[in-house]
Amino acid sequence: MSKIDLTRELEAAVVAVRDAATVCQSVQKDLVTAATLEKKDRSPVTVADFASQALVCSALAKSSEIGAVVGEEDAAELRESGAEETRDKVVEHVRGVRGAEVSHDQALDWIDLGGVTPDASTDRYWTLDPIDGTKGFLRGEQYAIALALLEHGRVVLGILGCPNLPGPDGQSGCLLTAIRGEGAQIHSLSGTSTAGAQSIRVSEITDTSAARFCESVESGHSDQDQSAQIAEALGIHEEPVRVDSQCKYAIVGQGQAQIYLRLPTRKDYREKIWDHAAGLIVVEEAGGRVTDVRGHDLDFGHGRQLENNAGVIATNGPIHDQVLAAVSRFVDVS
Ligand code: AMP
Ligand code: MG
Repeated sequence: MSKIDLTRELEAAVVAVRDAATVCQSVQKDLVTAATLEKKDRSPVTVADFASQALVCSALAKSSEIGAVVGEEDAAELRESGAEETRDKVVEHVRGVRGAEVSHDQALDWIDLGGVTPDASTDRYWTLDPIDGTKGFLRGEQYAIALALLEHGRVVLGILGCPNLPGPDGQSGCLLTAIRGEGAQIHSLSGTSTAGAQSIRVSEITDTSAARFCESVESGHSDQDQSAQIAEALGIHEEPVRVDSQCKYAIVGQGQAQIYLRLPTRKDYREKIWDHAAGLIVVEEAGGRVTDVRGHDLDFGHGRQLENNAGVIATNGPIHDQVLAAVSRFVDVS
């Protein structure tokens, strides 16, 4: 396959993620209410998830050379009888961005564009988490739209849309982008181009006792007892920054924390590629390092999951080996 122009792909992906963020913000504003929170009603995130995927896939189908999208969702559930109410809401939100002429079938077909399962013959594809951090979304807190381009099992481009993280202009909402070998940048979420972006860099600290670490809000996603022991061993006294979604990578990439620990809570859980691809390249291109708990590189060459990895450790770089040494004392890395 001929070499593709990643700058053009980046432009396409930025438009896609901004469109998706628009719809996620409007759903979070209109549908996540005290009543839905009380009832633990997940329907707002279902609507936003599908609408976000429809918008990203349709934007990529229009402007990217690469058609394959490995997304978290497909539209099968929405095509079933009984799903009419959700389907109507999804279509209404897609129309809000793409225009009133979008048919139901068109919107569902766009969602299904993201249903690709990569195999050995798919050497280039996008991976998408239309809403990463669904629990944060439902709490009105942090979530991200995460889109990355993989080439021969390697992440070459990544975008994180973070509607509730502060942007470079001080407004709520930022977009982080990275191209392999070209650094990482922060943009405001609301713009229409990539002009005015600022480079981001990880923190330079080398003394772990001065570090801050972040981890999942959900204790089922990362072992918080082990992380507390590791933090103590590293001399860290500050409380962890608990944030949902790949916003954790955004925080490390911008130097606001130096460590992201994701410690397996179950032996058989395999991390999903869309939960890490975009975040990983943002941190690496900002100068940081990302491995699993054993110190192995994340291996994106095995389909939808990181089959050969366990957990994730992301740092600013200089302290990575010290962090891994502490992890190996408290986590069974065998
Ligand atoms: P976070 O917001 O960082 O806690 O991560 C959210 C992601 O955790 C979701 O997108 C899920 O794919 C993923 N997830 C679900 N179950 C687990 C688990 N047992 N261990 C690690 N990650 C999980
Ligand atoms: Mg996710």
